[in-house]
Amino acid sequence: MLDIKIQPVEVKKEKPDQNKLGFGNYFTDHMFMMNYTESKGWHDARIVPYQNISLDPAAMVFHYAQEMFEGLKAYKAPDGRVLLFRPDMNIKRMNNTNRRLCIPQLDPDEVLQAIKAIVSYEKDWIPTLEGTSLYIRPFIIATDAHLGVHVAKNYLFCIILSPVGSYYPEGINPVKIYVETEYVRAVKGGTGFAKVGGNYASSLIGQQKAEQLGYAQVLWLDGIHRKYIDEVGAMNVFFVIDGEVITPALDEGNILPGVTRDSCISMLKSWGVKVTERKLSIDEVIEANANGKLNEAFGTGTAAVISPIGELNNNGEKIILNGGKIGPISQKLYDTLTGTQWGKLEDKFGWTVTVK
Ligand SMILES: *Cc1c(COP(=O)(O)O)cnc(C)c1O
Repeated sequence: MLDIKIQPVEVKKEKPDQNKLGFGNYFTDHMFMMNYTESKGWHDARIVPYQNISLDPAAMVFHYAQEMFEGLKAYKAPDGRVLLFRPDMNIKRMNNTNRRLCIPQLDPDEVLQAIKAIVSYEKDWIPTLEGTSLYIRPFIIATDAHLGVHVAKNYLFCIILSPVGSYYPEGINPVKIYVETEYVRAVKGGTGFAKVGGNYASSLIGQQKAEQLGYAQVLWLDGIHRKYIDEVGAMNVFFVIDGEVITPALDEGNILPGVTRDSCISMLKSWGVKVTERKLSIDEVIEANANGKLNEAFGTGTAAVISPIGELNNNGEKIILNGGKIGPISQKLYDTLTGTQWGKLEDKFGWTVTVK
């Protein structure tokens, strides 16, 4: 177990208006920090006032992007409990990402302890309005001041917290998606399965292009054949074709193993819906649409939970899904997942973890 030292702030910030939170705009009074050195391992766990980080300009994270992050949420249940949703999955993924980026492993029990400690310490910051939550962002950066390209020997692990609003203040509206055929997000052998900032840096140009063309997000295709569906924006993606729910399989290492993805698969199976994890080509999607068999499609991720796709632009050809409206499977997944996360529905899978 970690011995977490606490240094409280002298003056607390004013809490933001819960109706105007948006996503990632506000941060709480405190943060969690812990350092890694070769001689001491992970050490000096502490809760300190939210503050700037002072680093040498040569710190390796600035130059070679040895950085990883995670994202999960804490929810305030109607009975006052503070809930986390499947944090064990995030912590396991964290160590998988660390392995790929040569960042030292963390003790899973200590990470859960740290998350619970900072969330519990900042529990007054968890918003209570319908659809709001406290976003938890753990991350690790390489801090060695050194310009040679090597695995770093010193790291900083932080957890920051941000009260966030409902992703859909006006209800869920399906989004328009641009099928990207020039740039790729991930390839087999790369870092697609890992949650690293570098993946995002290289995806920005595709996102910018889509936005300039009037689209909300990019549908990424695989980096080798430029044919198989990868992910949508920074979310996993599902297509419903002729009643079968299909999502790309994880086995080639180019898909991020989303907690929301996994939860959707389990829920669909429990409802007796046919779910398949396999390769799905853009051609198969287009053909299904031509045959009237493309029922609906949606992205999944912690921030938006379920993001229905209303339109796909594939090389100028526009495909409208489910009349541009949210489909029944997307809606049922959204209602059941959010109901479970906010502690309003029975937690049939035992997914929620109470923070004290
Ligand atoms: C975080 C992330 C997801 C979604 O994962 P969740 O655990 O469901 O939030 C999907 N794709 C990418 C690229 C991601 O970074």
